[in-house]
Formats: sequence, structure tokens, C-alpha cells
Amino acid sequence: MPQPIYMDSHATTPIDPRVLEAMMPYLTDHFGNAASSTHLFGEYAKNAVDAARGQVADLIGCSEEEVIFTSGATESDNLAVKGAAYQYRDRGNHIITSVVEHHAVLDSCKALEESGFDVTYLPVDKYGMVHPQQVEDAITDQTVLISLIYVNGEVGTINPIAGVGEIAEKYGILFHSDATQGIGKVESEVDELKVDLMSFTAHKMYGPKGIGALYVRKKDPPIQLYPLLHGGGQENNIRSGTLNVPGIVGFGAACELCKGGMEGEARQITVLREQLYHGLSKRIDLIHLNGHPTQRLPGNLNLSFEFVESQSVLLGLKDIALSSGSACNSDSVEPSYVLRAMGIKDELALGAIRFGLGRHNTEAEVATVVERVAAQVDRLREMSPLYEMAQGGNYEVAIPANGETS
Ligand SMILES: *Cc1c(COP(=O)(O)O)cnc(C)c1O
Repeated sequence: MPQPIYMDSHATTPIDPRVLEAMMPYLTDHFGNAASSTHLFGEYAKNAVDAARGQVADLIGCSEEEVIFTSGATESDNLAVKGAAYQYRDRGNHIITSVVEHHAVLDSCKALEESGFDVTYLPVDKYGMVHPQQVEDAITDQTVLISLIYVNGEVGTINPIAGVGEIAEKYGILFHSDATQGIGKVESEVDELKVDLMSFTAHKMYGPKGIGALYVRKKDPPIQLYPLLHGGGQENNIRSGTLNVPGIVGFGAACELCKGGMEGEARQITVLREQLYHGLSKRIDLIHLNGHPTQRLPGNLNLSFEFVESQSVLLGLKDIALSSGSACNSDSVEPSYVLRAMGIKDELALGAIRFGLGRHNTEAEVATVVERVAAQVDRLREMSPLYEMAQGGNYEVAIPANGETS
């Protein structure tokens, strides 16, 4: 049995061995509580947290006191959206977001609607992109928060975040971005992205699970967030709870590795992604690219294959980790809400496969994936009467509402 191939890096990434090595002492000898400052055990832990906070801050170009550690991007999104909404509810009750957000933002907004907030969910263009003008047009005198995803986790489209940030600043409205899929892979600096609040997580960037951060810009007057968790007052009273020292150390190490290797890695992964795309296009006809052709995360390829359902393709490829739609929805056969929002027809949305390349993938793996996916698509199409009719010219091939035909 050959080694399984992991190509689902938008769902999670493997821990880099160098990250694990950095963490190990804090899972064993240095187990202290970072808040126990009177003894050496606590001091070791606190020093490690301080150093890691520096590494995280360095990657996103902010100061250490602007980094709030959380349990992951889900918590960071909840803290940013609900924390800002509750804190500033006397100023207004309107929030602007988009229909293609991660559920951590979408469902936080839904919850806020139940307690009297008004939410505008902006539509996206055929590439899954939101444009700054749409945001500006949606602003009212009640708007207290704009929350817009940076890089889409399904189709890899990179939103023009900086343009939205400029508008938010002009109107004096807080701007949050869920940047989980982008940090450490594409532009990651908060002043370039022009965000006030930014969520990200270690396990999407070769760090451990269960640790993330919310960036909170230091401003005058200071941004305040109503906490989700009350308790010991850690993290500037914004996020109580004993710090996850080994997780934080691993997160810091992961950030440092990304900062050092980001450009080279992006280039290398883009080469692999193009090999994958061209290889599949050569072997299989009637393929459509979902998402933006250029404004796209290096490691993302999302393709729809006509006349097959992606679920059936993936069932035959248990040893190759790919995804149909977003991971959280992979048990349901509903077309992805992101592809639907982009105006892609259900038949094509149901035939979509997401390839998520990471720093561990090789050319040999790409070649294997091309062959195995192509063989599986061939096999399924052989059983499809519709495909046969299309080959004989008796069936009009579905021209997608959008998406590129290869
Ligand atoms: C994975 C992901 C999350 C959730 O992150 P967790 O750390 O697993 O809670 C949120 N937003 C986006 C865009 C993601 O890709």
C-alpha cells in the first residue's frame, strides 16, 4: 500500500517537525502556568509566551500587546464580531459582512440578528470576490462593524481587503477580517491589509490545533471588545483562561517559519498547483476552474468536473486527501454555499473538488494525484449516459454561468 497523500491543506496542515521540537519542552519539563510569576516554573512559561508573542507579532507586523491568544480562529471570529457588536451597541446595531464568510463569522452574525442586530450580507461576483464599493454603499449611520474574509477557504479568492480598510477608516467603522487562510502564505502585515481586528489560527499554517489569535489594533481611543469568557483576566481582560503554553510556543515557531519561507514557498507551491491544473486539464475534458484566475491563494485549486459528482470521485480515492466543498459541510450533499453564491450551477457545484497544496507536497505526489483523479473521473463518466450523449453531440454541454472552461 503506497503512502497516503495529503492535499487538503485548507482543512488543516501537518505540524512542521521544527514546530513540534520547539513545543516539546513545554509539554514536559516546563509545564508551568505563565501567570505563576513567583517561581521558576512560571517564569519559564511566561518567557516562552513572551517570545512566541513576539514571533506572532513579527509575522503580521504589529506590536506584542496587540496579539490576543485564543483557542483558534473560530473563537477569534466570535470574539471580534460579538465582542465589538456588544461593546458598541449603543452606537449602532448594523454590521456588514459577506455571504461567503466562514461559519464562525456567519453564525456569529446570525446569533446577533436574534438579539436585535441588523446584518447586511454582501453578495460576491463570479469569482467569489467582494468589492470595496459594495461595502461603502452598504454603510449606514448605524454601522459599527465590517467583517470580511481575506482569503476564501474553498476557492482561494483573495479579497481586496486594503480597499475595504480604507473605507472603514474614512467612516470611522471597525474593520475585522478573518485572515485564517491567508496568514503566512500571502501578504500578512496588518498595516498593508488595513485591518483593526484580524483572526487567524496555528493549525492552518503548520502549527498545532487549538491555538489562534485575534489581532486588536492599538488606537486612540482604544478598541474595546466585550469578552466571551470571564475569569482570571488574562490577555488584557479580553480572554480569560490559563494560557496554552505549548500551543503558543508552537504557534510562535510556526509564524517564524512562515515569515522566513513565505515567498519561496509561495513560488514553489504555485509551480505544483500549475502542474496539477495542467496535468488534469490534459487528461480530462470538460473541467472548469472555480475562483479567481490570478487573485488566488498559491495552494488552492478548485475544479468542477462535468458529468461526475465529486463525492463519488473522492469515495474511490480514500488514500488521497481532497475535499468536495468546505470540510465542515463534507457530510452533506448540498452544493457548497460559496459556489452557489458565485452563481455556479448546482450540477457543476456538485462536481467540484478542492485541492489544497502545502509545503509538504511533492511533484511526484502531484503526478500521482493527476493519474488517480483522471482514472476515477474516466471510470465514472463511462457509466454516465449523459456523458455518452454529450460525446455523441446529442446533449448540450452545460456552459457554466461562469468559471473558466479549460
Ligand atoms: C479553519 C478556519 C476557521 C476556523 O479555525 P479554527 O482554528 O479551526 O477554529 C475560521 N475561518 C477560516 C477562514 C478557516 O479557514
